[in-house]
Amino acid sequence: MKSKLTLLFLALTTSFALAHGGVEIGPNGGRILEFSKNETMHGEVTLKEGKFQIALLDKDMKAVPVAAQTLNVTSGTAAKPEKVAVEKTATGFTIPAVKEGSLLVFQFRETEKGKPVTARFTYDTANCDKCDSPEWICKCEMNKAAAKKEKK
Ligand SMILES: [Zn+2]
Repeated sequence: MKSKLTLLFLALTTSFALAHGGVEIGPNGGRILEFSKNETMHGEVTLKEGKFQIALLDKDMKAVPVAAQTLNVTSGTAAKPEKVAVEKTATGFTIPAVKEGSLLVFQFRETEKGKPVTARFTYDTANCDKCDSPEWICKCEMNKAAAKKEKK
C-alpha cells in the first residue's frame, strides 16, 4: 500500500511536471521559489556548506524576518519520497543538501495554521553550457529577460 506521503508526493509532482519554465534567480544568486499566490512572498534557495539555505524575500526581493512561518520539505523520487529535516534560522530555513537529481517539494505556511503554498524544483546539477551554471540555478532565462530590457 502506498503511504500518504507517497500519494501527496505523486499528486504534487505529476500535476506540475509539465510546468517547466525559466528559472528565476534571486539577489543572492539562488533559485527563487514562489511562496505566495500573489508574488508577495518568495523563497531564495542557495547552497552553502553542504546545506540548502532558504531565505524569505518579500515582493521587492527584500529579506523578510522569520517568525511564525513554517516550511515542510519532501524530497526523493515519486517511488520513494522522504521527509526532509527543516531547521529554522533567523533569516529563513536550512535543509541538508539532497542527492543530485532529487525533486524538492516545499510547503510554505505564513503561520502554522495558514494555507500551504507549494513550490518545487529539481536539484539538477548538470552544467548549462550557455550560462555555465548548474541547471537548477541556470541564468539563461534571466539573461534573456535582461537583454530584452536593454534593447528597449
Ligand atoms: Zn543556462
